[in-house]
Amino acid sequence: MIDEHQDLTLSTGKQNYVLVADQQGLRVLAPLLEAIRDIGSPYEGPLLEEELQDRFDHVVDSILGRQKVGSYLYVAGSRRLVQKVCRIAYASGFTDGDMQVKVTDGSFRIFCSRCYMITERVDFSVFICDSCGLKLEPSTHYSRYHDAYLGYPVLGGDSHA
Ligand SMILES: [Zn+2]
Repeated sequence: MIDEHQDLTLSTGKQNYVLVADQQGLRVLAPLLEAIRDIGSPYEGPLLEEELQDRFDHVVDSILGRQKVGSYLYVAGSRRLVQKVCRIAYASGFTDGDMQVKVTDGSFRIFCSRCYMITERVDFSVFICDSCGLKLEPSTHYSRYHDAYLGYPVLGGDSHA
C-alpha cells in the first residue's frame, strides 16, 4: 500500500522522472521540479490534466508506457486523478517503489450501505447519511462501481429512531 499523504521527497539516482498533476497538485510538485532541475536529471512533464484535457489519459499512458527501468513517477492532485494515474502506471509496469503520490483534496467519497447516496468526507469519523439518516462509519472497502468507499451502518445508529 502506497502512502498518499506523505510529503513528496526527491528520490535520487533515477534515470528519468515523470511528473503528473492537476492544477492544485502542481503547487505540490513545484519544489520537486526545482530539485530535479538542480540535479540536472532528465524529466518529463509536468503533465497537467487541465492542459491536456481529453488527451490526458492517452498522453499519460503513452509516456508511462515507454519508460525504462529506473524511471520514477510523481503524481499530485485530487484523489480521482491520483487513482487514475496509478492505474495507468501499474498497467505500465510501475510498482509502489517507483512512485510517490500526494492527494491534495483531502476528501473522499463514501456511499451509504442503505440508500447508496454518496457523501464527501474529510475524515474517517462516524457521520449521518444526509439522504436516509442512517449513522455510518466509513470503511476501507472501496467500490469501483460507486467510485466510493462503503459506509457501514453503526449499530443502533438510525437517527430517525
Ligand atoms: Zn443513506
